[in-house]
This record gives sequence, C-alpha cells and structure tokens, in this order.
Amino acid sequence: MTLFDTHCHLTDEAFAHDAAEVFERARAAGVAAMAICGYDAASNPAAVAFAQGREGAHPTVGFHPHEAKTVTAAMLAELDALAGLPEVVAVGEIGLDFYRDHSGPAEQRRVLDAQLEIALRHGKPVSFHSRAAEDAAAEHLEPFAREMARRWPGRVPGVMHCFQGNLAQARRYVTEGFLVSIACPVTYPKNETNRTLARELPAESLVIETDSPYLPPQRLRGRRNEPANVKAAAQAIAEARGISFEDVATLTTRNAERLYRVAIRAGVHAA
Ligand SMILES: [Zn+2]
Repeated sequence: MTLFDTHCHLTDEAFAHDAAEVFERARAAGVAAMAICGYDAASNPAAVAFAQGREGAHPTVGFHPHEAKTVTAAMLAELDALAGLPEVVAVGEIGLDFYRDHSGPAEQRRVLDAQLEIALRHGKPVSFHSRAAEDAAAEHLEPFAREMARRWPGRVPGVMHCFQGNLAQARRYVTEGFLVSIACPVTYPKNETNRTLARELPAESLVIETDSPYLPPQRLRGRRNEPANVKAAAQAIAEARGISFEDVATLTTRNAERLYRVAIRAGVHAA
C-alpha cells in the first residue's frame, strides 16, 4: 500500500520542532510521497530546502492568494527561478480566495495571472486554492489549461486542492484536465458535497491530500493534522465509491505521479 499526500505544509511553524519526524512517521505509515507546498516568500525556498536529499519529498512553490497584496515583481522573479528547478513539481499554492479577502480581488487576479505564466513557462502544473471563487477561478484556469495543452501536450494542468465546490463545478475543471484533490474534510458529518465528489468524479481525476497542519480528519478535529492522516481521506473515498482501500491507494497514487511527473521508487514504503 502506497499513498501520496499531494498537498501539505511541513515548513509551517506548526512543524518547526518536528517536521523531519512527522515526515518519517508518514513514510512509515505508507505515505511514500508528499508534496511540500510553499505559499509565501519564506516557505517557498524552505520547501525546496526541506525536500533536498529526502526521498519522497517533492517541493512546490507559489504565493497564496492571501499574500497577493505583498507580492512584488522581484518576488515573482524569485518565484520564477525556483519554479524552474527540476525538483520543483508544481506552482502552488496559488489561487483565489474571496471568502477571507486578505487581499483584494484585483490584486489576487494580478498575482494569479503572473503565476500562471510562470507555470506555463516551465510546464509545471498548478496546485490551486479556491474559496468562494470556484466559478471565478475558471476564467483564469480554462485559458491556462488550453495553453498548457498547446505548449506542453500530455501534461496535467493542475490540481484543485481541497476542492469544496459542488459536483458541477468540479466537473468543469475535470473537463479541462485538472485533477480534484479530496482532503480530510470529506470525513466531516455535514460534508455531503465532498463525499459526492469522491463518489461521482472519474477515478483518474482523484488525488488525496491533508493540507497539514490544517483540516484534520473528524476523529482528530482541533488537533494538528499531519500527512500520515491522509489515510482518512483514502478510506472515505473507498466507502463513497464502494471499492477497496487498496484500490483507492493505487489509483490516487498513480494519478499523483502523473500530475507531478514523479515516480515512487518501488519498495520505499514500509506498509
Ligand atoms: Zn494549503
């Protein structure tokens, strides 16, 4: 059994004292690979540094929409350089967030478009955050996906991380080639919408994640989340689809490898 946590933040201050142990604990639990996602000027190089020499750690770099108002041209140039590193598997966490509005919508869209250009330049998929912006995001992502297909045929344009939109919205992105990531909120009693995605979306479109340290599964609510808990998302998908946990592990790992263009080395996982 091999799992792939496609989105976690092990450079977050919540892991300041034990990120290495948390990473190893996940590997011992069968989470052979993790995308270590940057989100601001400090966490982007930190994600790259964390992944250095760590089998199964794959860095991503990007500016979260909350950061948009602070992002300068120089910061985008720095991001461009990091995104071009061969070990960086995606541009993200990027996106639009019209729920919290830490940065205005126009600022968010400006920084998003600049980052989509960077992703296109390097042929890297995006790890995309949308909140209260599931439809607005399509205005940016649909032309982006078509341009990616034109310039980099066969590559996955990106992943809708911890997607909380409805099935119709998810299908719109799937049509453009995006994957949809199911996180541990799929285990929350009220989150029927997420379970509908888990049940109805095509198997080849699903990946799993934790978004650690955020969004722990139901039985650990209020605690720090960590990548070993990605099992809870896989289990919920298995229940929703009526298939085995092993099948969910196999298909979501295969999808994640295709998304990030990495191969998990056989035999590196413990369980
Ligand atoms: Zn995140």
